[in-house]
Amino acid sequence: MKRMTTRPRTDYDAIIAGARCAGAATAMLLARRGLRVLVVDRGDYGSDTISTHALMRGAVMQLARWGLLDAVRAAGAAPIRSATFHYGAEAVTVPIRPDGDVDALYAPRRAVLDRILVDAAAAAGAEFRFGVTLSDLLRDRDGRVTGARLADRGGALHEVSARIVIGADGVRSTVAEKAGAGGNALGRAATAVIFGYFPGLPNAGYNWHYMPGMTAGAIPTTGGETCVFVSLPAAGFRREDGVDALFRAGLACAAPALSAQLAGREPNGRLRLFGGVRGHMRDCAGAGWALVGDAGYFKDPVTAHGITDAFRDAELLARAVIAGSDQALADYQHLRDALSLPLFGVTDAIAAFDWTLETLKPRLATLNEAMKTEVAVLSMITARAPLPPLPQTGLARA
Ligand SMILES: Cc1cc2nc3c(=O)[nH]c(=O)nc-3n(C[C@H](O)[C@H](O)[C@H](O)COP(=O)(O)OP(=O)(O)OC[C@H]3O[C@@H](n4cnc5c(N)ncnc54)[C@H](O)[C@@H]3O)c2cc1C
Repeated sequence: MKRMTTRPRTDYDAIIAGARCAGAATAMLLARRGLRVLVVDRGDYGSDTISTHALMRGAVMQLARWGLLDAVRAAGAAPIRSATFHYGAEAVTVPIRPDGDVDALYAPRRAVLDRILVDAAAAAGAEFRFGVTLSDLLRDRDGRVTGARLADRGGALHEVSARIVIGADGVRSTVAEKAGAGGNALGRAATAVIFGYFPGLPNAGYNWHYMPGMTAGAIPTTGGETCVFVSLPAAGFRREDGVDALFRAGLACAAPALSAQLAGREPNGRLRLFGGVRGHMRDCAGAGWALVGDAGYFKDPVTAHGITDAFRDAELLARAVIAGSDQALADYQHLRDALSLPLFGVTDAIAAFDWTLETLKPRLATLNEAMKTEVAVLSMITARAPLPPLPQTGLARA
C-alpha cells in the first residue's frame, strides 16, 4: 500500500515528465521565458541511456541558438566534418558544410548532452526532481488535465497541479497512456542495435555502412572515443547467438575495414543492446496535456534522427505553451505531423531492410530532403520570431 501524503497543492505553469533531450530542452525554453516549470524523472541526474547520439544539422543548429554548443564542445565532443556513406565497397563522402554557428556536427554521449540541457534549464529556474515518477494525471470535471500524481522512491505520493502536463517520458510514455493519446501512425519495421565505445580510433567523421540485411557505423563522440554500432532486423535477432559474437560478425560483414581496425581492441565497458521497437506517431496535444520527443513520436534508430526531432519539437511545443491556447497546441500537432511524417515514413522504409544497395539510395535521398526541409522550416520559424510574446494571462512569474 502506497502512503498518501496530503500537501498543499503547488501550482506550476508546466509539469514535465522526463528530463532528457526532449523534456530538459522544453523546460529550458519555458523557464527562460519565466514560466514556473517542474521536471520529474524517475532516473538519475547525469545518467546514460540506451541510445547512440549522432546529431544532425537541425540539432546542432538548435544547440547553437540555445547558447549550448560551446558547452558541448567544452565537454570534448569531437567535431564531425564529413559523413561517409558506404554501399558495400562503394564509398561516398559528403563534407559537412559550415553554416552560421554550425561549424561541424557533434555527437556527445547522452550523459553529457542531457546534463548540459538539465543544467541550462535549472539555471533558467526550472525545478528538477530526480527519482520521481509521474504515475497518473489529474483532471477536472470536464476531463481537462490539471496536474499529475507523482511518486518518489520512498513510495510517497504527491499531487501537483499545473496548466499543462507534458510527457517527455520516452517511448513507453505514461503521460500518453493516461491522456489516452490516439495513435495515428504505426511503423511496420524494427531494428535491433548493438553498440559500444572504442578509444583511439581516428576521427573520420560519421561513417554509415549499408549491406542488405544489416547496417553498421562509427560515430566519434566525447572523451576520444568512437561509438561503433551494428544494426539488423529485430525479427531476425537472436540474443542466444551472443551479443559480442553478433557484433563482431556483423561488423566484419557490413564494414570490413572498420572491423579490421577493431581487431584486438576491446570496448570501454560492455557492449549495449537495443532489441527494437516499432515506430509510432501519436496525437501529441489535448486539453491540458502535450507530448514531446519519443513520447509522441518514435521512429526506428536506423536514421539516427530522434534527438534532432526532439529538439525541434521542444522548440515548437515551447512556443505553443507560451502562446497559451488550445489552438496553439493543435497547431503544434499539425506542424509536428507535417514535418515528421516524411521522416517517419522513410525511416520505416529503411528499417524494413527490404532494399538492395541500389534501391536504398533513393530512400536516403528522400531522408536527406526531409532533413533539409526540417532545417529550413525551423530556421524560418526561429528567425522570423525569436519566441512569441507572452500572453496577458499571467502565465509567467513576475
Ligand atoms: C539504440 C538507439 C540508438 C539511437 N541513436 C540515435 C542517434 O544516433 N541519434 C539520434 O538523434 N537519436 C538516436 N536515437 C533516438 C533517441 O535516443 C531518442 O529519440 C531520444 O532519446 C528521445 O529523447 P526523449 O527525451 O524523448 O526520451 P528519452 O531519452 O527516452 O527520455 C525519457 C525520460 O523519461 C523518464 N521517464 C519515463 N517514464 C517516466 C515517468 N512515468 N515519470 C518520470 N520520468 C519518466 C525516463 O527515466 C527518461 O529519462 C536512438 C535510439 C536508440 C534506441
